[in-house]
Amino acid sequence: MKIICIGRNYADHARELGNQVPEQPVVFLKPQSAILSHKHPFYIPEWTQEVHHEVELVVKIDRLGKTISEQHAPRYYSEVGLGIDFTARDIQSELKAKGHPWERAKAFDGSAVVGGFLPLSELGGEVQDLDFTLTNRGEVVQRGNTGDMLFSVNRIIAEVSKFMTLKVGDLLFTGTPAGVAAVASGDRLVGTLAGHDLFAVNVK
Ligand code: ZN
Repeated sequence: MKIICIGRNYADHARELGNQVPEQPVVFLKPQSAILSHKHPFYIPEWTQEVHHEVELVVKIDRLGKTISEQHAPRYYSEVGLGIDFTARDIQSELKAKGHPWERAKAFDGSAVVGGFLPLSELGGEVQDLDFTLTNRGEVVQRGNTGDMLFSVNRIIAEVSKFMTLKVGDLLFTGTPAGVAAVASGDRLVGTLAGHDLFAVNVK
């Protein structure tokens, strides 16, 4: 399986990092080894001083497909969840400055928190109208609504499947709203989607 991630998919987050709003989705991958079970703590790697949390809607692909139209995209997923795209921001800034790929900053072990999944039908069926929050030590640090995505889930599936086959079990991280910030040892990050707590991660 692969983890497909979308960068800069919320205008408020693109702005907070000083990035342009993209004309087409910014796509990158994380390997399967990046997955952190939501039952395990996250250990800050020793080679970075600045790991940011990015809470994101995660869509589970449950059908094989290539060159999927936006119209047919809803047939390719039925469950959604919430995750964190942990990002070593200091390393990413260096890589961006050199024009290098982002894997060192984005694809490291434990960088993809994957929480539980819920049938979209149980959440009202509309993937572009879901509220989600991330709390840290009980305080809300990120708050989003999937209706604010620049590129909808269906549009992303259409774009990505132009050049990459989607397989059963692939996960799509759909981008983060504003509020990203560095984590520290002792933090406790809880992700809530439409009122359902889907992960709780202790940072060490
Ligand atoms: Zn992200």
